[in-house]
Amino acid sequence: MRREPVKPHGPCNLPCGFFFEERGMRIRRMKDVWAPSTLILVQAAFAFVVMLDGCRISPRNDSKKLEPYVPIREWKYIVVHHSATPSGNAERFDRFHREVRGWSGGLGYHFVIGNGHGSGDGEIETGPRWLAQENGAHAGITEYNQYGIGICLVGDFTDSHPTEKQMQALIALCRDLMKHCKIDADHVYGHRELPGATTDCPGKQFSMEELRKILKKE
Ligand SMILES: [Zn+2]
Repeated sequence: MRREPVKPHGPCNLPCGFFFEERGMRIRRMKDVWAPSTLILVQAAFAFVVMLDGCRISPRNDSKKLEPYVPIREWKYIVVHHSATPSGNAERFDRFHREVRGWSGGLGYHFVIGNGHGSGDGEIETGPRWLAQENGAHAGITEYNQYGIGICLVGDFTDSHPTEKQMQALIALCRDLMKHCKIDADHVYGHRELPGATTDCPGKQFSMEELRKILKKE
């Protein structure tokens, strides 16, 4: 029987086969490592996008959207403002507070209630500061920025009144916050009532006495 001559093991025989097998294993190993890692990275990226999205100003009157991401911390007051503009929304005020006021935290209020011009009539927008339970930037006094929940109604109530739907939304929101944060109706203030305030906010036509009277009723 004639034997096939043994081919000399060149650099591409055994070493190559071994190399390919080894490389295949390495590729598989890399797949094993990278596939789950990629999945985790994709999931992390998705979670990050969701988080960013959640940090954006909420556009709906969805009670779920009023729930912060962190446990509700201590709040002592609610401070009511008007925007002193005929129209607006949380995004516009956020831009103003960032670009004109230079507040890196953006929107200084915790909530904005629309009047139908710029956002829905009676629409409650939740700001990032509420979601993260951060101090507001609306009162001009540390105590009330730190412990005061800032609610801004879109409109100028120097000569006009809030819409019916805005008032309904404000009363509902105040009641909700008063209940969850254990705030008494007597601690619901208008901006102008804060010590040292030099403003008419939320406007001469807005009666804080009337609001507190309503909030005291069950
Ligand atoms: Zn104000």
